Amino acid sequence: MPDLRGKIGQILCKLGITPALARRVAHHGRFALVMHGVSPAFDSSLPSSVQPHHTAQEMRLTLSWLKQYFTILTPDQFLNTDHPGVLLTFDDGFANNVDVLLPILEEFDVPAVFFVTVQHVLNPRDWLPATRRLVEQVWRKTENVPETTARNFFDGMTVEQLQTCAHHPLITIGSHTISHPFLSECSLPEMENEISGSKRQLEELAGKPVDLFAYPTGDYDERVLLQVQRAGYRAAFAVDSLKLGALRFEIPRVGLYSSDPPYLGLKLSGLHRPPLYGKILSY
Ligand SMILES: [Zn+2]
Repeated sequence: MPDLRGKIGQILCKLGITPALARRVAHHGRFALVMHGVSPAFDSSLPSSVQPHHTAQEMRLTLSWLKQYFTILTPDQFLNTDHPGVLLTFDDGFANNVDVLLPILEEFDVPAVFFVTVQHVLNPRDWLPATRRLVEQVWRKTENVPETTARNFFDGMTVEQLQTCAHHPLITIGSHTISHPFLSECSLPEMENEISGSKRQLEELAGKPVDLFAYPTGDYDERVLLQVQRAGYRAAFAVDSLKLGALRFEIPRVGLYSSDPPYLGLKLSGLHRPPLYGKILSY
């Protein structure tokens, strides 16, 4: 969080403004939240830039804070009802979502959507382009990364882990494409493969229907949105909604990158982004 925003968050929190606003939002509105990997613990021997935004401890703090204010909704409650609360989504399909995060979700008994990149499942060591770039800054080559660090921070989930999640009562699997591209820069056949192909492959691998989608890096345009609709998805999640006229295929999400209460209060107060009201699927 930039310093200025951190300071504003702390002041508004101390004055009781953001907690009061978050409480008000929680009574009427809804947010979809996006997070990513969760490490077992912070490794002080490594730069924070290569580590997941949340440790297990930070995830527990985040969920405690969220549960204090908001109802944690299932995807059906979020999409089909006007029940206030938050939907938890985790992008990319990291192994640590199953090794570290899933037991915490069970501990708090809260549902979540895992948006999985197919490339991760087909080969958990086939890391995402952004991961490779980060890793090469520290270790030069991906092969130089110690085994435990690779597993805790960077690996994708295995097919077995995907199946465990797909059949878990708290988890819904959604698609996050095959190779995590900027979809608006893809040719039409590439786009179709990333959007429809990932749905098909995940359904085969998971043994369950996959009808939710999240745009990698939040990147989409009218062509991409049309492909997502044609592929038969029920809803799609962005970060910033471009408001192209189909809210259920461009649901905005609030990214959480810290477990600090003033930060969470500011992000979910409605000052950072207005909450959603009404049934998403009626749009
Ligand atoms: Zn992603």
